[in-house]
Amino acid sequence: MTTETPSGSDPGAHSLSGTPVVAGIAAGPAVHVTTDVSPEAVARFGDGGFATEDEALAAYDEAVAFVAETFTEKAAVAHGPAAEVLTASAGLVRDKGLRSAVAKALGSGGGPVAAVHAAVEQFVTVFTTMGGLMAERATDLRDIERRLVARLVGEPAPGVPTPLVPSVLVASDLAPSDTSGLDADQVVALVTERGGPTSHTAIIARQLGIPCVVGVPGVTDVVEGEYVLVDGEAGTVVRGADPDEARGLVEASRAERELLQAWAGPAATADGVRLQLLANVADGRSSQRASDEPVDGVGLFRTELCFLDRAEEPGVDEQADIYAQVLNPFRDRGHVVVRTLDAGSDKPIAFATHEGEENPALGVRGLRLAFGNPGLLERQLDAIALAAGRTGADAWVMAPMVATVAEAEQFAAVVRSRGLKPGVMVEVPSAALLAHQMLEVVDFLSIGTNDLTQYTMAADRTAADLAHLTDPWQPAVLQLIAITAHAGAEVGKPVGVCGEAAADPLLATALVGMGVTSLSMAARAVRSVGSQLSRVTMGACEAAAEAALSARDPRAAREAVRRALV
Ligand code: PEP
Ligand code: MG
Repeated sequence: MTTETPSGSDPGAHSLSGTPVVAGIAAGPAVHVTTDVSPEAVARFGDGGFATEDEALAAYDEAVAFVAETFTEKAAVAHGPAAEVLTASAGLVRDKGLRSAVAKALGSGGGPVAAVHAAVEQFVTVFTTMGGLMAERATDLRDIERRLVARLVGEPAPGVPTPLVPSVLVASDLAPSDTSGLDADQVVALVTERGGPTSHTAIIARQLGIPCVVGVPGVTDVVEGEYVLVDGEAGTVVRGADPDEARGLVEASRAERELLQAWAGPAATADGVRLQLLANVADGRSSQRASDEPVDGVGLFRTELCFLDRAEEPGVDEQADIYAQVLNPFRDRGHVVVRTLDAGSDKPIAFATHEGEENPALGVRGLRLAFGNPGLLERQLDAIALAAGRTGADAWVMAPMVATVAEAEQFAAVVRSRGLKPGVMVEVPSAALLAHQMLEVVDFLSIGTNDLTQYTMAADRTAADLAHLTDPWQPAVLQLIAITAHAGAEVGKPVGVCGEAAADPLLATALVGMGVTSLSMAARAVRSVGSQLSRVTMGACEAAAEAALSARDPRAAREAVRRALV
């Protein structure tokens, strides 16, 4: 979408719009991610001139070892989900199936570059047909192809350049390998043409704390070096902005963000209503880091992220050790909500996921896996109970992808039998609509807005082109959140939000106004959310909730909440 720029801007300027992800204003020359290896270098390399297929395969093996090592090194310095994805990419590049396909393609002549291309295309077709996260892995595979080809032909790896001055990174979409190691002093904002609020780009921008707008049609037309102004709250990218004017806006925004970072908790509204801000964690390391932030505990420990690279299910003792590392930093501080395995669909786990489903997002994922394999859940609960006993932490346990009250009841029974506190996630619209009855059988609910949005809007959360639908500000999603929060308030049981929506300071005010009792998010986002909440009264939050619930679309909802808070 292109609109005229607001008054006061350079007359030649015009503004593009997208989905705002991380608030703040930044400006600078645009830099692009280089995606392709120089065609001249590829042409010079040709078929590589290898005497035998074995020699060509040896060159491929060397390139694989190099690229895998690069991913592993990046994973070692990355954090949380980015580290997990890079580790998975290191595994993917070494994949034996890919190697066999390359070996076979070498038989047709053309050399290793052509063979890698043929093999990758073959896998991309398979992954794309599978949909969900597997389709997203096609992006990773193409990235792997570029890196292998660069190594084979002796060119530097493609990716993000190191800009000489602070710059705005503009891309169609960003792969994890593009963004790992990004320096927030050099890259001051991220803008992508594709992707939604839960895309990899959005996750990285939140971790770095830099302004970010995703799903901006036409932004890749911005030329390298063109001066752009990014407003991560309004979701706009101004081309041809006046640098002097931009400087003032950027400074004001930076000062405001510094003020946000000074917030140190505890979380409460301006009129003193105490709220709980919790952290989302993936492993012991991220839990330890989260404990340095002003959080009241952990609202979501995604256990499946500990097992992305495991072929076999770890034994109960090993699982207990892993969970204890997460519980330990919070043993004297609030509670830790451990989510049982959310395997399947966008989080394939080798020892749990059902292979070959036509539509994995609607298939046997999350708690549904336990129906055909109850031992998997039982062993995990045993391990959580062991870890809770060893650390003395207050462990709550919740199940993902619950659709019926009977499922919640069955889950609650096995959790309670181990002396733990049971809850369920509200990710399927049926669970929100039945929130009252769910709360008759469990002790708490946690709204997973990422999946709740996906299932309410019938829009794949990983689809780069559906950002306007996979937006938690969609009024239908807000209605379901309100129903759930209301049910909790009526019976006096906790109802939290643990999807990405909780990390949006503006939306957080409306969620609190709806009656949500806790917000759980990437630890990095806690200070901006806490600071925002500390500046508004509970009455203002309730007005924000009402305004959001009356809006017709996400843009109107954001505007209405902004107006309600002034
Ligand atoms: C969610 O769906 O909002 C959620 C928190 O779970 P995940 O993102 O891990 O699916
Ligand atoms: Mg989910």
